[in-house]
Amino acid sequence: MAMEDGSEWSCRLKGNMRIRGIKSTNPVAVGDRVEVEKEDGGEEQGVISEIEERKNYIVRKSVNLSKRTQIIAANIDQAVLVVSLRDPKTLFGFIDRFLVTAEAYDIPSVIVLNKMDLYGPEMEEELWTFRATYGMAGYKMIETSVNDGIAMEQWKDLLQGKVSLISGNSGVGKSSLINVLEPGLDLRTQEVSETHNQGQHTTTFAEMHPLQIGGYIIDTPGIRGFGLVKMEMEEIGDYFPEIFKYKSDCKFNNCLHLEEPKCGVVAAMEEGKIAWTRYRNYVQMVTEEDDTYRTDEFAE
Ligand code: GDP
Ligand code: ZN
Repeated sequence: MAMEDGSEWSCRLKGNMRIRGIKSTNPVAVGDRVEVEKEDGGEEQGVISEIEERKNYIVRKSVNLSKRTQIIAANIDQAVLVVSLRDPKTLFGFIDRFLVTAEAYDIPSVIVLNKMDLYGPEMEEELWTFRATYGMAGYKMIETSVNDGIAMEQWKDLLQGKVSLISGNSGVGKSSLINVLEPGLDLRTQEVSETHNQGQHTTTFAEMHPLQIGGYIIDTPGIRGFGLVKMEMEEIGDYFPEIFKYKSDCKFNNCLHLEEPKCGVVAAMEEGKIAWTRYRNYVQMVTEEDDTYRTDEFAE
């Protein structure tokens, strides 16, 4: 345990400690803030007596105790999604699923559009569409190039003093970006592929890497992207900020914004206030019969 004065103590859990409402195989997770009582006799040894309420946490299904969940990490300030428009191109469907999951976990997302040096005039329209889509959705975005050193100061400011989870599909430049701030920091697993595979579940624990500039990067070995999120069909729209914003204009308060008459969301989309790709991906998530991405890890 890292103590507030910077020292490292080894700690054990108090025997009968339970956390209200959570059936978890691991009561304390990376990122938890805890109270420690000094253990008699021991130097820099303590007993964890209390866990502060988590502002958020991500979970995954436990390997052998299927009803239980494993809390991977807690108190995450932001989910940083690194994307690229080419070499490789990040699909909008992938971005939207990521953002929805982060919303469901109550973790604010920031989009980092990297490889800006590669987007020539022929990609102007695509770039504009990208900015409009996620700008209208209300996401904070920065545009970087590691190769040309674009917005590296902004990149630093983004991570400084925060606990960040960094994700993105393979090859978009996550390692390169991290190395700008922390040369030599090699995260074990940051790959997120865009297709859903049933992966092998292994028990792993996340780690927090401190940054020299202040702040931490959470590394989640064996876990790519987020863990499971259970979502009801009716909830999904609430995790698209711009759909949530216009749903008060719908005639029916249980409107799913599909075929219902007088739907405020469809109207907003037709007026160009919601990007059609976002709406389309919303519809796909709501109508999908295979809901495995909602009940299991969607990215492996
Ligand atoms: P990761 O898989 O997301 O960690 O991606 P890497 O950091 O390993 O980068 C994948 C490739 O993209 C490497 O060849 C990097 O040199 C390259 N790369 C990273 N950032 C940029 C960038 O801003 N512009 C260009 N043109 N290439 C980049
Ligand atoms: Zn509606």
